[in-house]
Amino acid sequence: MGDLTGKAVLVREDLNVPMKDGVVTDDTRLRAAVPTINELSGRGAKVLVLAHFGRPKGQPSLDMSLAQIAGPLSQVLGRPVRYIDWEGDKAAVAALQPGDVAVLENTRFFGGEEKNDPAVAERFAVLGDLYVNDAFSAAHRAHASTEAVAHILPAFAGRAMETELDALQKALGSPEHPVAAVVGGAKVSTKLDVLKHLVAKVDHLIIGGGMANTFLAARGVDVGKSLCEHDLKDTAEAILEAAEKANCTVHLPYDVVVAKEFAPNPPTRTVNVHEVAADEMILDVGPAAVEALADVLKTCRTLVWNGPMGAFETPPFDAATVALARTAAALTKEGSLVSVAGGGDTVAALNHAGVAGDFSFVSTAGGAFLEWMEGKELPGVKALMS
Ligand code: ADP
Ligand code: MG
Repeated sequence: MGDLTGKAVLVREDLNVPMKDGVVTDDTRLRAAVPTINELSGRGAKVLVLAHFGRPKGQPSLDMSLAQIAGPLSQVLGRPVRYIDWEGDKAAVAALQPGDVAVLENTRFFGGEEKNDPAVAERFAVLGDLYVNDAFSAAHRAHASTEAVAHILPAFAGRAMETELDALQKALGSPEHPVAAVVGGAKVSTKLDVLKHLVAKVDHLIIGGGMANTFLAARGVDVGKSLCEHDLKDTAEAILEAAEKANCTVHLPYDVVVAKEFAPNPPTRTVNVHEVAADEMILDVGPAAVEALADVLKTCRTLVWNGPMGAFETPPFDAATVALARTAAALTKEGSLVSVAGGGDTVAALNHAGVAGDFSFVSTAGGAFLEWMEGKELPGVKALMS
């Protein structure tokens, strides 16, 4: 990037933090933006932060204004942050001094932002000399501030983006084998492309959560009242066949925890999958399967994890997720495993298990993380490379 003194750098960040009554309730995303912003500022750039907030769909509104984020961002950065609206922006940017940091108004106040409109990208680009994309979580969307603008200005990856891409590269790009993937969560239908991509990439595919029921049903198991997408049995069967061809060992639970009602601490039974009664539902993977899966992880060098093994929000159906997460964390600490996890509920589950900090990398990117697990090229990342 060379000397940045006095250069205006547009930095795309993810400032889309949860807010309640005007207060930021989780500043994870703000903290993720700190290294890039502070480094650019330290190198003498005028830092112009570009971000969206909420879903205004081209309609400016006070409650979706990034004016309210300038203060919280300033706090985590430990330096002043100006706010610049889309009226007097050119003059305001011209008045900045080297090292100054400013947040530009919500990119989605322009209707063309989400349409990747070149005119909107140009509107942003005229303000800066360089563009840095630091928002992996927005990179699966080809929007004016994530994609088109990167073709107008010299475009670089920010530090958080770099860290995320490095971790993902280690997990699925050029991983050390054997590689295990844990895929869980509620439904097969939301993760079909993930499963299809993974069978060709990993040595062990561990299927848990509600989606395991569909696979068990495809294998002729009577899953009773369990969450199960019976219409996807053929698809599940095709995935199992593809795995076999690709030499990927699929691990389905062979014991499970069942209950007649889905409520906290109901009466439960731990049974072989062939012993689920018609009025019972599978809500967690059983302890014998978890032990076997721990042994699988011990033979692996790399783990990628998306989706909880059971209905972890409701006790005691968190047991398998917590146990397997702790095993993965311990192996990572020992240095035998590179572990990368992502997904909204997965991050919550790892936090619940108290081990999120012990994984090699935990992605909070949600949709972008899943698309990456599907093997898709993310437009916001691709635009940086070309
Ligand atoms: P992520 O957000 O990490 O991608 P998902 O949204 O796919 O994960 O899945 C998480 C949800 O799956 C959780 O709410 C969890 O309760 C649910 N789930 C997991 N196992 C089961 C099960 N056996 N029956 C019903 N729901 C389940
Ligand atoms: Mg989810």
